[in-house]
Amino acid sequence: MNPNPAFGADLQPFMGIPSFMRLPVTRDLQNVDAAILGVPYDSATSHRSGTRFGPRKIREMSLLLWGHNSTLNVTPLERLNVVDYGDVSVVPTSIEHTMQAIAETASGFIETGTTLITLGGDHSIALPLLRAHAKKHGPLSLVHVDAHLDTWEAEFPAVPYSHGTPFRYALQEGLIRKGEYVQVGIRGPVSGANDYAEAAALGARTITIHEVMEKGIPAILEEIHVRMTGPTYVTVDIDSADPAFAPGTGTPEVGGLTSYQLLQLVRGLHGLNLVGFDLVEVSPPYDHGDITSVLASNVVFEYLSLLALQKGTK
Ligand code: MN
Ligand code: MN
Repeated sequence: MNPNPAFGADLQPFMGIPSFMRLPVTRDLQNVDAAILGVPYDSATSHRSGTRFGPRKIREMSLLLWGHNSTLNVTPLERLNVVDYGDVSVVPTSIEHTMQAIAETASGFIETGTTLITLGGDHSIALPLLRAHAKKHGPLSLVHVDAHLDTWEAEFPAVPYSHGTPFRYALQEGLIRKGEYVQVGIRGPVSGANDYAEAAALGARTITIHEVMEKGIPAILEEIHVRMTGPTYVTVDIDSADPAFAPGTGTPEVGGLTSYQLLQLVRGLHGLNLVGFDLVEVSPPYDHGDITSVLASNVVFEYLSLLALQKGTK
């Protein structure tokens, strides 16, 4: 029997203390391949909040993950030493302090060689995460799955940062390799023609949901694999999925990816040089039957599976 309690011979999903996949909760990162980090923060949302409750709920729903990925034919926790690091101590009333805390925690992490898997939180947390990763790896290739461009200029003129701006600053700060920023699933009337033009001018390759549905996920993956040549960071906004599959989020946009397409997309990143990951914008108060958190935990599991396949090939 696998000694890892995530495999759960004596604990059912409704039992016990819900760390991610019931992994050990520790801040000791010695010989740890990957660690789960929560960022329970939602003060950078522009509409409905609640993502501060995301990490805890995703952890709870992750107890339904029994461990084997039958599509990729890998059992990630058999190959990887993974722990749950707990949460960043965010300051709900201050995005500046929170970004600082995220960057410091993430940098400490990345220095040890442990791959960081972050549970948000709203999408503003991606900027300090990208800064920390670029500090270690240099400019990154970036796969961004989202309904929204998130390259807007300050949504609120008094402050530069919100959950709609992280990738504008990441591009402007040179954190992303030229030509190696792909955003997938973009849609909705919230983005104007000028917003698309601006994203392109900043250096984004925007793949709209229309293009995804016309071409299919395999063709999209093909382009991603051609483009991404460097250390690759992956950021998944759960609102990339259709609200039918992910209603628990702050700014839902209809006509999105199915849950299967989202899993297929993340799964298909196998083979890239994967260095970091975040899953953001899960807002449990708006969820129904926890389906958004169930999907989120499964997306994280796909990424863990990719890391397991990557181990030993690097
Ligand atoms: Mn979004
Ligand atoms: Mn987003």
